Amino acid sequence: MNNLRQVDLKDKKVLLRVDFDVPVSDKGQIEEVFRIKKQKETIDYLISHGAKVIMVAHISDESVGRSFAALMPQLHILLGYEINFIKTVPEISAYLENYAGPALLDNIRQNEGEEKNDPEFAGQLAQGFDLYINNDFAVCHRSHASVLAITKILPSYAGFLVEEETAKLRDVINSPKDGKTLIIGGAKASTKIPVIKNFLDKADKVLVGGVIANDILKAKGQEVGDSVVDENAPELLIGLDLNSSQLVIPKDFNISEKKILDIGRETIREFCEIIKNSKTIIWNGPMGMFEDDKFAGGTWAIAQAIADSSAFKVVGGGDTISAIDKFVKIDRFDFVSTGGGAMLAFLAGEELPGLKALGYYS
Ligand code: ADP
Ligand code: MG
Repeated sequence: MNNLRQVDLKDKKVLLRVDFDVPVSDKGQIEEVFRIKKQKETIDYLISHGAKVIMVAHISDESVGRSFAALMPQLHILLGYEINFIKTVPEISAYLENYAGPALLDNIRQNEGEEKNDPEFAGQLAQGFDLYINNDFAVCHRSHASVLAITKILPSYAGFLVEEETAKLRDVINSPKDGKTLIIGGAKASTKIPVIKNFLDKADKVLVGGVIANDILKAKGQEVGDSVVDENAPELLIGLDLNSSQLVIPKDFNISEKKILDIGRETIREFCEIIKNSKTIIWNGPMGMFEDDKFAGGTWAIAQAIADSSAFKVVGGGDTISAIDKFVKIDRFDFVSTGGGAMLAFLAGEELPGLKALGYYS
């Protein structure tokens, strides 16, 4: 990928795509600081090499009205320096002319052109900048203006986080098949089943829980009662060998009101045994409806078993990280990906447009 370390940054005006898409509590407190701290290395590097840095990012949390305005004091504390706030894109050029330290533009998705990947909008955004750096791995599967169209205008480079994510995830994909275990749970079939498909010949075992297990059980003709299933699953499962000996699906369940809501004891025992003997573990997706304590047992046990195993362990996914935060310490994992959908797309072997634009696949 286009390497940032080779660039002379002195006095360069840098448009930096960052990932500050954090959940915020009712009291206005940032609930996941990990994502923000992961940005610090690249921002520090740029500042210490004399670059003039304007950051762009999106935020989805409704409680702050999808705006960074109220979060600026917390960003200051988390990053360790004052960051100025720029409300709109047209105000950027004036700021660059009288540069007064690093700044953040408010939610880039407030601009209509962003999600449309509008080249004209990207042109306005690029005004006055010398180069563009993408340090938001989690958005690399999106063809948005601040991810893709912008790279057609400015010389573009990968930030350190994008470099780290791609290197670590590529390593686990390419690691020896022997002793490699993929664990998939959670809900959204369209993002998860392609990962199972890609790993079935790359991993020793693929353990499946959550709604994805319901989808597979149903496709195999088993009774799932009123369990949650994904209506897109049957089509997505075409081409996956449901009888493969590598694919391990739950044998017993925690059922309530005719719904499978967690994996059962026998399954937990079987999954934990496989985890214990693994050399590499990739985990995405809770085993059950873990938000309710009654159905958290499977996810809790799997999280403990992975944390205790001596395998190289990689995890990712918004709800998976919340579950880990709740049950074990996140620092017991070797690599925690900031990418949810982007990580899954990468693990599924798809080409991510944001990475392609940085020269990753060439
Ligand atoms: P991640 O964000 O880690 O990728 P997902 O968003 O795919 O995970 O899925 C997490 C959600 O799946 C959780 O809200 C959890 O309650 C739900 N879930 C898991 N198993 C079940 C189940 N058996 N029935 C209903 N919901 C489930
Ligand atoms: Mg989720």
